[in-house]
Amino acid sequence: METKQLYLHDSYRKEFEAKIQKVNGNEVTLDQTIFHPLTGGVACDTGCLRRDSVEHSVLRAEINRETKEITHILDDTTDLKPGDIVKGTITWERRYDLMRLHTAAHLIAAVMYRDYDARITGGQVDSDMAKLDFNLPKTERQIFEDAIAKANIEVTKKTPLKIYFLNREEALKIPGVVKLAERMPPDVKELRIVEIPGIDLQADGGPHVNNTGEVGEISLVKIENKGKTQRRVYFTTKLA
Ligand SMILES: [Zn+2]
Repeated sequence: METKQLYLHDSYRKEFEAKIQKVNGNEVTLDQTIFHPLTGGVACDTGCLRRDSVEHSVLRAEINRETKEITHILDDTTDLKPGDIVKGTITWERRYDLMRLHTAAHLIAAVMYRDYDARITGGQVDSDMAKLDFNLPKTERQIFEDAIAKANIEVTKKTPLKIYFLNREEALKIPGVVKLAERMPPDVKELRIVEIPGIDLQADGGPHVNNTGEVGEISLVKIENKGKTQRRVYFTTKLA
C-alpha cells in the first residue's frame, strides 16, 4: 500500500501519528509518514517511533519506487504489530541541515546552468555536506567559486520558496522542469514543483527551507574530476 508522504506538504513538520500497516523483521511500514526516505539525491531522516511509552529508533527510511511504500528501518520492532498507532518524531537538526543543503544545491545548479551552460548529472545531499556533478568540459575552480558566490547573493535576498502541485501535463510544459529525467517516477499524475522565484523551478520531492536566507553561507569544499567532462563539487553551509 502506498504510504502517504506528509513531508511533501510540510518540510517543517517534526511529529506525526500513523497506523502500522506491516511489520517485517526490523522494518515497519505506516499508512503515512513525515520521514523522508533516501530518494531524489537527498539523504533520509532518522528519528523515533513511540507506541505508548516504548520508543524505537528509526535508523533510516527507504521508498519502493513502484509501490511508493515507505519502509522505516528500526533498531528493533518488539511488540509492534499491524494496526498499532504510533507517534513519530524526526531528528530535526539533521532534517534542517538536509533542507538547507538541498536548497543550496538548487541555487548552485541553477547558476551553473544559467551562467555556464553546465547541466547537472547527479548529486547527493547529506547532512554535513553535499555534492553535485556537472557536465562541464573544463575544470576551473573559478567557475565553481563564482557559482557559489552568486548562490550566496541569492541567500542574502531571503527569497521565499514556492512549493505547489501541478498536474503532469501542465508541469511538463514548463521548460527544464525536470532536470534529471531518470528521477521522475513514470506514473505520477501530479508533480510537486519547487520554485525559487527568479532563479529556479523544478519538479522535486525533497524537503526545502522556507526562504533562501535560511540556507546560510555556502562554502566550497573541493572539486573533483570525474572523467572527461564530469566535474564534482562538494560544498557545505553555515548559519551565521
Ligand atoms: Zn532537489
